[in-house]
Amino acid sequence: MVQLTPKQKQELLSVLLSNKTKLEQQLLDAESATGVVTLDQSSVGRVSRVDAMQQQSMAVSTRAIAEASLRKVLKTLKRMDAEDFGYCGECDKPIQFNRLKVQPQASHCLKCQDQLDQA
Ligand SMILES: [Zn+2]
Repeated sequence: MVQLTPKQKQELLSVLLSNKTKLEQQLLDAESATGVVTLDQSSVGRVSRVDAMQQQSMAVSTRAIAEASLRKVLKTLKRMDAEDFGYCGECDKPIQFNRLKVQPQASHCLKCQDQLDQA
């Protein structure tokens, strides 16, 4: 049983690839943001250092989130040709294409995801 048409798959693929590019750019930005603080630490005053540290920790968590998302995107790209791609890992029903379009890395249908989120 084929759920996704080649055209739909192509659409998802381009969503994934553009997500990948965005995330990679975010990671690069976060990297330069975390790098700057270490270099400037001795030359800035106390207040701006606190600021810089806050910015740094924000950049660190941004980076962590971006890294996790990027891993998911890469995993999804590999999974796309698998037979069970687009099917819910819980109830085995096809995941709605509209949901996949927003979140190609979704591994569960909305109903099961809701239940997982509540658990
Ligand atoms: Zn499900």
